[in-house]
Amino acid sequence: MKKIRKEIDFAINDHLNDKTVYSIGSLTLMIGHVIYIVSFISLEVWPMVWFNVFSILFYVLMFVFNLKTTKYTQILMLETLEIMLHALLGLYYMGWEAGFMLFYVCDATLPFFGGFRKKAVPFIISFANIALFIMLRHTMYDWAAPFHINDPGVMKGLYLYNAVASFLIAVYISSYYIFIKEKMTTNMKRKNEHLQKLATIDPLTELFNRRAMMEYIKIIEKKAHTEHINYNICIADIDDFKMINDTYGHDAGDEVLRIISKIFVDEVPTEGYVCRWGGEEILFALPPSESDMAIIVAEKVRAKVAEREFDLDGQKIHVTMTFGVCRVRPDENYDSGISRADKRLYEGKRSGKNKVVAV
Ligand code: GH3
Ligand code: MG
Ligand code: MG
Repeated sequence: MKKIRKEIDFAINDHLNDKTVYSIGSLTLMIGHVIYIVSFISLEVWPMVWFNVFSILFYVLMFVFNLKTTKYTQILMLETLEIMLHALLGLYYMGWEAGFMLFYVCDATLPFFGGFRKKAVPFIISFANIALFIMLRHTMYDWAAPFHINDPGVMKGLYLYNAVASFLIAVYISSYYIFIKEKMTTNMKRKNEHLQKLATIDPLTELFNRRAMMEYIKIIEKKAHTEHINYNICIADIDDFKMINDTYGHDAGDEVLRIISKIFVDEVPTEGYVCRWGGEEILFALPPSESDMAIIVAEKVRAKVAEREFDLDGQKIHVTMTFGVCRVRPDENYDSGISRADKRLYEGKRSGKNKVVAV
């Protein structure tokens, strides 16, 4: 029972996981460019060295932005552009053979993971990559690149590095699909559980509602039947509640109901169930047991309510409650148990209120 409030306050925080995925992406791309810069220095391709200085700083910045902000879409877009530009410069300075054009293939997949509101945007960016690839294949396939390396081993190595890097980008970003799917399933499950809980709870008192209670009583009844042990039902009603409403207002009445409900939650053992049975009536049921726990609990709640000073907008008042407790036999229908508890409650009202009637 005590957990109900926490469950109502339940909030889903889904930014943390996105942050991790995008930040690791930026960091990995930064490391990829460190490998490039070392290679370009050793090959003495200076324009690419300088561009990679920019790329490394760029990805450090993107890494920080991913950590500090939630603008993942914009960041991913800038990264897509950087990849396009790097590939274009690689082609320009080292020629088609170096394999930089392969990045256009993986770059075409990236925008689909950007979370654009307009569905057409990823397609436009993707087709731009394809168009650029075809256009460059036509115009620059035989391009006499200023830093073309004549060693076929070096060119093969560069080609393979570019190929593997573009494959890895495609794999990393595609694996994000599984991640999103899993996250969505978990969130949906949690939301469903949350909604189910709300459907069983009375919003004013945060106790179970009558419908949920019927289900719980049926479970208790079944258990009692199997174990051949009695169980207890207690119905309680606030005394002269109409007068409280009439004197202090409906809102004050609501506040009294809330406070009293909390006393029930605190006193009824965790194996038991408490519900708002009707307007100002609260019912609790305890699982099968040989003890007279229900009478003890009812007496405790009665005393706590009676002792408490209710502060209603500065006006201090005392409230009392009357209780009808019934031991339900395992061969008895729960309906008759409830009606006996109700009769005892009526007895209590008739004979002066503020009491627990159990026989
Ligand atoms: P008794 O001691 O015999 O139980 O008298 P009573 O005045 O408590 O009983 P009665 O049945 O005459 O009045 C119950 C009142 O409870 C009337 C109704 O307006 C009020 N009530 C029912 N539900 C709510 C609620 O959710 N909020 C408030 N503030 N009042 C409610
Ligand atoms: Mg009443
Ligand atoms: Mg009543």
